[in-house]
Amino acid sequence: DSHVAKFVYDFTEGNKDLKDLLGGKGANLAEMTNLGLPVPPGFTITTEACKVYLDSGEEPVALRDEVSAHLDALEARMGKKLGQPDNPLLVSVRSGAKFSMPGMMDTVLNIGLSDKSVQGLAAQAGDDRFAWDSYRRLIQMFGKTVLGVDGELFEDALESAKTAKKVTVDTELEAADLKKLVTRFKKIVKTEAGRDFPQDPREQMDLAIKAVFESWNTDRAKLYRRQERIPGDLGTAVNVCSMVFGNLGPDSGTGVAFTRDPASGHQGVYGDYLQNAQGEDVVAGIRNTVPLAELGQIDKNSYDQLLAIMETLENHYKDLCDIEFTIERGQLWMLQTRVGKRTAGAAFRIATQLVDQGLIDETEALQRVTGAQLAQLMFPRFDEHAKVEKVGRGIAASPGAAVGKAVFDSYTAVKWSRSGEKVILVRRETNPDDLDGMIAAEGILTSRGGKTSHAAVVARGMGKTCVCGAEELEVDTKRRRMTVPGGHVVEEGDVISIDGSSGKVYLGEVPVVPSPVVEYFEGRMHAGADDADELVEAVHRIMAFADRKRRLRVRANADNAEDALRARRFGAQGIGLCRTEHMFLGDRRELVERLILADTDEEREESLKQLLPLQKKDFVELFEAMDGLPVTVRLLDPPLHEFLPDITELSVRVALAEARKDPHENELRLLQAVHRLHEQNPMLGLRGVRLGLVIPGLFTMQVRAIAEAAAERKNAKGDPRAEIMIPLVGTVQELEIVREEADEVIAEVEAATGVALKLSIGTMIELPRAALTAGQIAEAAEFFSFGTNDLTQTVWGFSRDDVEASFFTAYLEKGIFGVSPFETIDRDGVGSLVKSAAEAGRRTRPDLKLGVCGEHGGDPESVHFFHEVGLDYVSCSPFRIPVARLEAGRAAT
Ligand code: ADP
Ligand code: MG
Ligand code: MG
Repeated sequence: DSHVAKFVYDFTEGNKDLKDLLGGKGANLAEMTNLGLPVPPGFTITTEACKVYLDSGEEPVALRDEVSAHLDALEARMGKKLGQPDNPLLVSVRSGAKFSMPGMMDTVLNIGLSDKSVQGLAAQAGDDRFAWDSYRRLIQMFGKTVLGVDGELFEDALESAKTAKKVTVDTELEAADLKKLVTRFKKIVKTEAGRDFPQDPREQMDLAIKAVFESWNTDRAKLYRRQERIPGDLGTAVNVCSMVFGNLGPDSGTGVAFTRDPASGHQGVYGDYLQNAQGEDVVAGIRNTVPLAELGQIDKNSYDQLLAIMETLENHYKDLCDIEFTIERGQLWMLQTRVGKRTAGAAFRIATQLVDQGLIDETEALQRVTGAQLAQLMFPRFDEHAKVEKVGRGIAASPGAAVGKAVFDSYTAVKWSRSGEKVILVRRETNPDDLDGMIAAEGILTSRGGKTSHAAVVARGMGKTCVCGAEELEVDTKRRRMTVPGGHVVEEGDVISIDGSSGKVYLGEVPVVPSPVVEYFEGRMHAGADDADELVEAVHRIMAFADRKRRLRVRANADNAEDALRARRFGAQGIGLCRTEHMFLGDRRELVERLILADTDEEREESLKQLLPLQKKDFVELFEAMDGLPVTVRLLDPPLHEFLPDITELSVRVALAEARKDPHENELRLLQAVHRLHEQNPMLGLRGVRLGLVIPGLFTMQVRAIAEAAAERKNAKGDPRAEIMIPLVGTVQELEIVREEADEVIAEVEAATGVALKLSIGTMIELPRAALTAGQIAEAAEFFSFGTNDLTQTVWGFSRDDVEASFFTAYLEKGIFGVSPFETIDRDGVGSLVKSAAEAGRRTRPDLKLGVCGEHGGDPESVHFFHEVGLDYVSCSPFRIPVARLEAGRAAT
């Protein structure tokens, strides 16, 4: 075979587009090398080599030779050999997968040092202290990450060395101290790892490379990949990079920098620098760093060069970059760059700034922001000018700003909130028993657990603010108190504030301000105005890009004029789901009760007759609010018992009345009806189209109300565009019967009013059978609206009301899915049904209109899916409309 696999690339051979093969770090090191930036020479072992190793348990045969060849070349170039006793070449071995991943092996610096070469390094640098410091770091990192020794043992030994010497920072340890520490570290290795620290430099390097390969499959890495849906077979690359030293004295140092402020997006000099330091010292907080701008005074040459490089990188990557660099005796070296993380607000600002700079176009700008970021910007937030007392920080599990009295159990949360108090439920962690308390609370704070803990999952599902895993807080639920760092005690009833977007926890009440982005969507703040927020300007422009680009239309789920008007302000192009059940509550409940209890046709017709004008009025208002835009009205869907009193409450009332020998006739009848209507599985029972088929006159009353309302709007010179939607259809026969009756009613109204109505009739597709027979159903439907909530329930056999609080946490933790299928459409299962039903429907009826009205309509990832399968619109709650618009635009790029 003439095609020989190539497992090793010199930094001069790669480029930034080879992330699959070289990992993110390796690809960008190559890119910087080729840009002519000062990168210490080195090479990258490919992910392919890692895959072979993981599959076979052995390094590919060719790898050793290739590594040797590249190492030879590196040595020739550097004029010294790895670990050469009198003049050693040292390297770092750095992991680097395509995606950066917790659980992957940490970098090992200073490989090549040994009892002999440490002397050589000292002589070469003319600095004993430096050489022994480098050696102790090698043994420490190698011991911990390659040999698996508990890192704290080394930390403790370092601490005792400092204490013995009565110094506080590591730079105050002298060569002799560090030499002793090396001896101590070697002993730790020997005892803990059962072997000597390897003195052969090539063995050090090979062991480190293997350890990087193996770290791909640590439990932590595997779990992370399952949750983030990163394929398990990508493998990691390994970078071998010649060492440069920031720990060679005050004219050396190491730092990190951003080409723009990752918080605001502003261009400028952002970063930290630490003199006489190596590797991660700068982020580890062992000594105080200085702001990057001070490097200008410390070493003007290197500083100027760094600024020039930062500009080169920004123009080249056309984005904010973050950077790691080291200065060795006045010489600047670049050790890493990548497109940097940023806050949500900065993402929008940077995207528009880059468009203005001519670096990217509108389409690219849309790729630089996400719907999740926009959603984050729409939550109310704490006033940034307020004086606050921060007492802890946990994981930002569910965004929002919540203020309330601390309570430590669910019972108190419910009790206090019933009496009008705002409470924050504070727990070590939550479990299903806390559900009532979570519902009652403004927000949830836990001291244990991560993003997939019970508290986090349930809070996100409820849209409730949550900070979890705030480990510095000592929660004592028995004594109903928590102790914060510094010893202050928060007692039950003390007010606290939690920020679910940053994870921060504050004492006392922090004032909350509305999001400027929402003020803008509401029309209370205008882009282009003198005092307009920079962020608002950016959001305004990005939304315009998205609207120009998208094919999907965005409608709202709304059932009253007020929501409809807000939805319109937020950019809704119609109503995709108007639920009519809310129109049956409140003071109409009595009429509905009478309808349900009716013994005779006359009784039933009488209550329907009284409901008709009320329903009609609802629709007139709605059609007026949405004038000129489609309004899909869903006929009554929920099981009837939802309109009747609670069975227990009613039984008690009846029993009491009987005890008083004063039985109330109507309540007795109600109770009988409740018993009659009781179902084991109401969600699979008498609801949706089934109601329309067994309760004479119910659906036709609703259709008449819609038709009459439309006629009235037309007579008032309005432009009503009503669409009638039949829920829970499983077979075309159901739809045909309802449709026939509806057509008759519409014809009657047209005849009576003399107005041509052109109402369309369609159905929800929310049962597997409907999806499977969509081709037949389309014969009787002018549109489909996928009800992905019920479809998810019925396809998975999950009860949405129960599973999220019971076993979903376990499922998420085990990585069975990365996110609840009620949050993001399950592409492979539910999604494939949606896709095939859409196709079958369109085969029957090419102009069939297709939409979706489940919660998924406003979920970013799901919106992309609906775009891909060719739906016409998504419908979501008014608040999520901007997110859906943005994601629909992004999906179309
Ligand atoms: P991470 O992925 O955690 O950032 P890195 O591989 O970037 O790990 O390395 C950890 C630290 O060591 C960083 O500060 C990096 O700049 C530094 N470093 C890595 N390789 C070298 C080298 N060859 N010379 C000097 N410092 C290095
Ligand atoms: Mg690291
Ligand atoms: Mg790094």
